Amino acid sequence: MSDTIFGKILSGAIPCHKVYEDEQVFAFLDISPLSTGHTLVIPKEPAQTLDALSDESAAALGRVLPRICRAVIAVTGVREYNVLENNGAGAHQAVAHVHFHIIPKPSHGEGLGIGWPARALDQKAGAELAAKLRTALR
Ligand code: AMP
Repeated sequence: MSDTIFGKILSGAIPCHKVYEDEQVFAFLDISPLSTGHTLVIPKEPAQTLDALSDESAAALGRVLPRICRAVIAVTGVREYNVLENNGAGAHQAVAHVHFHIIPKPSHGEGLGIGWPARALDQKAGAELAAKLRTALR
C-alpha cells in the first residue's frame, strides 16, 4: 500500500465515493472535481509514476479505463472528456500514486483547461530521436 492519501483510500483508512473495484484497480470520485463525474482510476500497486508500473497492473488499468469512461458518459450525459495522468511534481502530480483522471468536458466550459505550446518537429532531429526511442524499447 502506498504511503499516500490514495494508499489510505485503498486500505479503507479514509473514505471515498467508490465507483469501481477489482483485484488490481480501484476508481472513485475526485474530491475537487473539475466537472461533474470527474473520476480517478488507480492501480492497487503502489507505483508513483506510470513508468514504474508493472505490465500486469498496466494491462488491468487498460482493460477497465474505457469501461469506466463509458459509465461516466452514460451517467453524466457528457460525450466529450479528457483522460489525464500526471507524473512528477513538476508535471502537476500532487499525489505520488499513479492515477488516471477521467474529466468530462461539457459544452458550457467546465472541465480541463489545457495549455498546448506546440512547436514544429525538426525532421532530422525527429528521425534521430525516434531511432533512439526504438533502441530504448528493444
Ligand atoms: P494530480 O494533480 O494529478 O496528482 O491529482 C490529484 C487529484 O487527487 C486531485 O484532482 C485531487 O482533487 C484528488 N484528491 C486528493 N485527495 C483526494 C481524496 N481524498 N479523495 C478524492 N480525490 C482526492
